[in-house]
Amino acid sequence: MSYDDNNIFARILRGEIPCKKVYENDHALAFHDINPLMPVHVLVIPKGAYVNLDDFSAKAAPEALAGFLQAVGETARLMGVGEDGYRIVANNGAHANQEVPHFHVHIFGGRQIRGRMIRADE
Ligand code: AMP
Repeated sequence: MSYDDNNIFARILRGEIPCKKVYENDHALAFHDINPLMPVHVLVIPKGAYVNLDDFSAKAAPEALAGFLQAVGETARLMGVGEDGYRIVANNGAHANQEVPHFHVHIFGGRQIRGRMIRADE
């Protein structure tokens, strides 16, 4: 799948539309999900143009991979969920119903999550 330069997260990275920023480093940006499903629901995206984790893990430089993972952990700490815990989810591709074609992970937290796993068939 080729990268669509006009996807909504590309436009956020270019500053064309606003976001509620939580954290930023050289390689990643974290901001609040516009439709939060949990008390804490933040998205972390790489600054590079990658469609999903398949694309990012295959093509990104080691510094970008490390910078992204560092941003996920730092964002969780800034949101106050580092100690109590949180869940990260990345929807990748059609079978996972990925909506926005720019790689992102969701950080969910702020209350006890009931199930151990999201049902694989939902
Ligand atoms: P998915 O691609 O299925 O992992 O989900 C994309 C997520 O992006 C959804 O949780 C949306 O609520 C969220 N989203 C879509 N547009 C925006 C936006 N402009 N700012 C923040 N979050 C957004």
